[in-house]
Amino acid sequence: MPNQTPSQGSSRIVVLGSLNADLTIYTQRLPEPGETLHGEGFTVNPGGKSANQAVAAGKLGANVSLIGAVGQDANGTMLLESCAAANVDVSHVRRAENVETGVAVVTVDAQGENSIVISAGANGTLAPSDVEAAHAVFEGAAVLCLCLEVEQATVEAAAMAGRDAGARVLLNLSPYAPIAASLAGACDVLLVNAHEASQFLDGAPIPTPDASLADWEPVLGHLVARGLPSAVVTLGAQGSVVLDSNASAGERIVRINPTRVDAVDTTGAGDAFTGGLAARLAAGDSLAEAAAFASVGAALAATKKGTQAAYPDAEAVARKRN
Ligand code: ATP
Repeated sequence: MPNQTPSQGSSRIVVLGSLNADLTIYTQRLPEPGETLHGEGFTVNPGGKSANQAVAAGKLGANVSLIGAVGQDANGTMLLESCAAANVDVSHVRRAENVETGVAVVTVDAQGENSIVISAGANGTLAPSDVEAAHAVFEGAAVLCLCLEVEQATVEAAAMAGRDAGARVLLNLSPYAPIAASLAGACDVLLVNAHEASQFLDGAPIPTPDASLADWEPVLGHLVARGLPSAVVTLGAQGSVVLDSNASAGERIVRINPTRVDAVDTTGAGDAFTGGLAARLAAGDSLAEAAAFASVGAALAATKKGTQAAYPDAEAVARKRN
């Protein structure tokens, strides 16, 4: 039932990973190496891929628990408050001692394009022991969302815990890093943009947005050979493609056309997409149905500045779909 809100009859989502304070400067264009530019405004906002994904799903009405770590500083408090405001359970976000909350320094240009540098801070302390400490959260979870902004050993421990608990494990391969075969093998859905998809597949060409569905078959073949049964490849303003080796013959490769919007800031659009996808998968949608919903939410997120504050609720997505 695509119009059902995620909270109705949905199961729990666990998100494990990063929380960052986003320090953002808006400029006409991104600086060249060595160049200093005058900015046109500065904001400090809650961010971090996992916090964003948790908030995106929470705002859509999903039942979400976040596992992570922040420092004992004002940024950490801001991040916890933002998650809690989206009804995300933060009881497993640890307040780490003697380390600052993670920070992302973001530059956004007049076209909404961004560049980002991250200091991991407390995110770097998130360890397999945090997964063990939160073992009860995994029990009965429908979906587990992971990304690579925390140590890969921790991501892998969580993937194993999620798989053992019967959750559908989503891995957002961002920021890109090579991953162990054991981690790939524990995941059900890979979420990547075209660049990350090519890197993961050792430089394999990724079809252009106007390519035919048949052109994506080799990509799906490569993914399956790497132990991944399904993936969503996001293509920015060009939409996304769902690859699912478990789907019936005519639905193995599905093109999700973009939702046309006036983009102001695409920072965190990928996280809005991931959170929306998780929310709809937890509510029982197929991967392609969930991606179609997520695509609308991510497009709406790009119409406002910032990340978490820009994420839509289920009503806004439903309005845009009609
Ligand atoms: P980021 O890391 O900046 O959050 P990403 O590279 O992970 O982004 P994208 O492929 O840029 O992810 O965007 C994710 C999804 O968001 C796209 O598949 C699309 O559905 C939606 N989206 C992004 N930008 C736009 C846009 N300008 N117009 C409409 N939809 C967009």
